[in-house]
Amino acid sequence: MKLLFLGSGGSMGVPIIGCQCPVCTSSNPKNQRYRPSVLITEGKRRYLIDIGPDFRTQALRYGIDTLDGLLLTHTHYDHIAGLDEVRIYYFRQKKGVPCLLSKESYEELKIRYHYFLPGDETHDPKLHFSLLKEEMGDTVFEGLKLSYFSYVQVGMKVNAFRFNQTAYVTDIMEYDEKVFDSLQDLDTLILSGRRWEKSIAHLSIDEGIAFSKKIGAKKTYFTHISHEIEHEETSHRLPEGFFLAYDGLELEI
Ligand SMILES: [Zn+2]
Ligand SMILES: [Zn+2]
Repeated sequence: MKLLFLGSGGSMGVPIIGCQCPVCTSSNPKNQRYRPSVLITEGKRRYLIDIGPDFRTQALRYGIDTLDGLLLTHTHYDHIAGLDEVRIYYFRQKKGVPCLLSKESYEELKIRYHYFLPGDETHDPKLHFSLLKEEMGDTVFEGLKLSYFSYVQVGMKVNAFRFNQTAYVTDIMEYDEKVFDSLQDLDTLILSGRRWEKSIAHLSIDEGIAFSKKIGAKKTYFTHISHEIEHEETSHRLPEGFFLAYDGLELEI
């Protein structure tokens, strides 16, 4: 299996509109970050985790011409604002795109994307929803084996997904120690880490390092990165086994 970072940026992306800071004006492509999303490829099958506002550009850049499933971590704008773009897969594949999400996320989408939902007699559903039944567990989604668990970010429930020895844990802020049970024996942890300083919605890089050390992941990649992080400088500053993700980075998982 492969995991491709379509976007490694925070909610505003990098560069941030109008910002003249050294990172936002950097010509290093590793400092240019679309909103956070990854593509999982297993054989010919492709699964997307989150579909943010940059999805159309990401799909064109990386040639995502088919999609077998969409997994949603939660319903903040930077993770779902590209949802309308699934229409093209519906038209080309002639069926709604399967979508795995929590009940809470589904309830939120019902309000924000009511025209996608099954039951509207004037349209075929563009998405077919599968709800995660528990707070944590194992499931098979469209042929993809995974486990999942949840935590909270500023009052919103968020899901993490694990595939074999790799876990994608984004937008984590408040969590129960139980999450560590789901993260044992990891080769690769992908973790949100917005910046070195604390913020209200994200672990700092130092908190992320402590989190990863607690579970003993062999490698940790930070994603959801803000413009306060310069790629080369921070890469040198991180301890052994810790890396910054960047757009276009592909991992074997
Ligand atoms: Zn986010
Ligand atoms: Zn900036």
